[in-house]
Amino acid sequence: MAMATRKIGSTECVHSGVSTCETTGSVAPPIVHSAPFTFESIGAALDYLEGRSTRRQPEYGRMANPTVTCVESRLAALEGAEKAQLFASGMAAITTLLLCTLKSGDHVVLTSDCYKRTRDFCEGSLSKFGVTTSVVAPSLEAIEGAIGSATRLVFTETPTNPFQYVVDIEGLAKLGRERGVLTVVDSTFATPVYLRPLEFGIDLVVHSATKYLGGHNDLIAGVVAGRAELVQPIADLLATLGGICDPTTAFLLGRGVKTLALRMARHSANGQAVAEFLEGHPRVRKVFYPGLASHPHHAIARKLMLGFGGVVTFLLDADREGTARFIDRLKIPSLGPSLGGVESLVEQVILFGYLDIPPEERQRLGVPDNLVRLSLGIENTEDIIADLQQALNDV
Ligand code: PLP
Repeated sequence: MAMATRKIGSTECVHSGVSTCETTGSVAPPIVHSAPFTFESIGAALDYLEGRSTRRQPEYGRMANPTVTCVESRLAALEGAEKAQLFASGMAAITTLLLCTLKSGDHVVLTSDCYKRTRDFCEGSLSKFGVTTSVVAPSLEAIEGAIGSATRLVFTETPTNPFQYVVDIEGLAKLGRERGVLTVVDSTFATPVYLRPLEFGIDLVVHSATKYLGGHNDLIAGVVAGRAELVQPIADLLATLGGICDPTTAFLLGRGVKTLALRMARHSANGQAVAEFLEGHPRVRKVFYPGLASHPHHAIARKLMLGFGGVVTFLLDADREGTARFIDRLKIPSLGPSLGGVESLVEQVILFGYLDIPPEERQRLGVPDNLVRLSLGIENTEDIIADLQQALNDV
């Protein structure tokens, strides 16, 4: 049986990587806003360019930035990676990774319950370059069944969005090695505090750092981490495509990461309590939370993960209008499409990204009108439950 991933605590979140400025002694890293990074002479430039110098900062801010590098070193340490690369968004990270690793004729296996734009990019944009995609259920068996001779890469979220299925990533890593296929896990929902995919042998881990890693609903960023030989070509393509993370965003992200373990404990406590409350409520038809024994992937989640986070997805016993009324009555969660921040957010899942799809097709995709996703922040559990209770009274 697989061991649950190694525990990452607040000490690692605060201290791992390069977190201070060696030249000034400042505890917080300086925010370095500069486009060019100069050299004192042509000789010094040649020493750097020809690999004879100890300097690490390239000549131009599209390639690297000292504030960004600080945060990358901490995220690499938390994920147990040789190298982490920050991006301007989770989607910049995902699209750059896919464009870098795939070529015409390749085939991708993508699991179905995933961020819609990841699927759109694979099925829409990549197909224009001769890359085909199979979208399969988030299970090892389905993934294995879809791998063929042209398959180059398997991409899965774990837990998935919004139903929080948990793929057996240890089995996936083994499968990838046996079949010569690159394995990529979008670990946004788990964070390195609860799951470290690289420890199980997965090749690359990606995050929308906009979510739990940043943690305050105030930035957009993404990250790819893994072995340097895999991440470096992605970083090189990023330097050409240009979707870089700016230094102020990196500073905020680095500050957010320091409290990641603390926040995750509260998000998870809220997640578990709210999931149990909703599961027992007569106006709720079904709850999807990996910490519930009723979740189809509860056993695998318990085996692989150290905690389950703050996202609770559920089907209300209501039609589209009743679901909208329930959401509008909530006072603590704001209506919005993100997750992982200290402020709770709620969305009727059809709202952001599915409205252009006809209702029958939405139903087929498993996104009915009464599907609600709650991203629990760090507010007091009893206040959130009281708020849900009063809104449910009106359903
Ligand atoms: N991956 C997951 C699981 C997400 O939920 C999202 C966004 O919601 C993304 C990737 C995209 O990240 P970003 O919004 O930072 O571009």
